[in-house]
Amino acid sequence: MTTDLSKLIRELSEIYDIESKDTYVSVYVNKIADPKYLGRREHTCKSLLKGDEQKNFEETIEEIKDYIKKSPGNNLAIFASKKHNFFKSVILPMEIHNSLIVDSSPYIRPLARIQDEYESFTLVLINTNYSKIFSVSLGSVDQEKNLSSNIMSRHKKGGQSQARFQRLRKGAIHAFFTEVKEALEKIADKQIIIAGPGTAKIQFKDMLPKHLQEKIVDLIDIDIDDEKELLKESIRLITEKEEQKSRDAVQHLKEEILKDGLAVYGLDETLKAAQNGQVELLIVEKDYKLKGCLCENCQILKAGPIKDCPICGGTTTEADVIEEIIEFAERTDAEIEFTSDEEIANLGHVGALLRFK
Ligand SMILES: [Zn+2]
Repeated sequence: MTTDLSKLIRELSEIYDIESKDTYVSVYVNKIADPKYLGRREHTCKSLLKGDEQKNFEETIEEIKDYIKKSPGNNLAIFASKKHNFFKSVILPMEIHNSLIVDSSPYIRPLARIQDEYESFTLVLINTNYSKIFSVSLGSVDQEKNLSSNIMSRHKKGGQSQARFQRLRKGAIHAFFTEVKEALEKIADKQIIIAGPGTAKIQFKDMLPKHLQEKIVDLIDIDIDDEKELLKESIRLITEKEEQKSRDAVQHLKEEILKDGLAVYGLDETLKAAQNGQVELLIVEKDYKLKGCLCENCQILKAGPIKDCPICGGTTTEADVIEEIIEFAERTDAEIEFTSDEEIANLGHVGALLRFK
């Protein structure tokens, strides 16, 4: 199972109810933690919705509950709407928080955050005659490929001079590394870690083409039997790198703001940039939420409670402003960085590096 989260998030970000009706139900469920959560939220939401929205909710939540019962996963995210004949789900390998949201579009923020925090990578375990390639995504192994060469047994039989034996051995190692390289080229993710005992991993790295070398995050010296330890260590490394990336992003944002460069900060400016497709990298404070209002007529979004749209006078509905910014950013293929760096709070909780101004 390869979880292509980015594709799913992109798809969900493009969906919304044209009449701004609350017809999309998003459920993040952790079957182990608080098993009664869903029932409680279902009851609350049902009592708040009226007419068609209530009918749609009842039918949609039945379908969702059926699905949850049948699914083997303990942690699931489901996005559904009976009215729009829409149903998408993903099994998540990590523990998630329960939530049920009824809105005019799928609620993607928790999913976008998971994608940011659990970066996928490829791990190559290698020595001169044995290799394993792991695809790690969302913190667990998705796929693995085993490769081995029987060079030593083939050439151990006597009768050869030492020099000839060494030459053959070198050739055989080269052939084996070439085989591993070809396998790696097919499945390499954006980040690669190479691990193994001794110098084989360095020789292997040196023979990789430039585009693969550039993806290498680290070389780890480790015994080939220590696979579990190695996976843990790799995930730790990638997580650390992701945290560094989020600190760098905030730093970069500050520098751009100081020189009045390609950056915006604060709610209004960032929202405008996201709507205009200017955002290259959106930076969001991790747990910050802000209530706002979305005009049902002209789709303008404002922070705070506003009854009538200041632009067209149309009716507004409540919205999570940060969620809306994330959806706009996803639709235009922007990257999203969630950060707990305190500086982002001083900049209005959200900011963006821009593609153009
Ligand atoms: Zn309006």
